[in-house]
Amino acid sequence: MSTDAPSDRSEDPADPAPTGPEVGDDEAMGLALAEAATAAGHGDVPVGAVALHRGRVIASRHNERELRGDPAAHAELLVLSDAAAALGTWRLAEVTVVVTLEPCPMCAGGLVAARVRRLVFGAADPKAGACGSLYNLCADPRLNHEVEIAAGLRADEASLLLKEFFGGRR
Ligand SMILES: [Zn+2]
Repeated sequence: MSTDAPSDRSEDPADPAPTGPEVGDDEAMGLALAEAATAAGHGDVPVGAVALHRGRVIASRHNERELRGDPAAHAELLVLSDAAAALGTWRLAEVTVVVTLEPCPMCAGGLVAARVRRLVFGAADPKAGACGSLYNLCADPRLNHEVEIAAGLRADEASLLLKEFFGGRR
């Protein structure tokens, strides 16, 4: 029998804090915009999202609703799942979510449920936005958690991607 014990190699699961450079909101939005462009590549509405934990990127996703045929596969919910997996907890109290488009009611609900600390979004969504446009689920004192919001970051770039996508389909 082999006495090799490769399982002894120490990886510290107690400290899931990601390493890597800290990025600011603007740079994170750049990554989210690149994710959004990827979504358009497979016929999905171009929306991208990035999760930051203490300023470091821990997850980066885009809308996959058409790709998966899944109504819940919005960029924000996918990035919340990845962030939770990366940190080993559903409670994302130290996480900032950066997304190109104002979250819909489903995703705003997800941000609240995950106890996300802060939301940064690009373009407002007057037709479905639930973080200030139609509703503000992130700042409703009746709910058990509020998410800090910064709106409008690089909104023109996010809007342009959406306009190109919908324009190209007509
Ligand atoms: Zn959504």
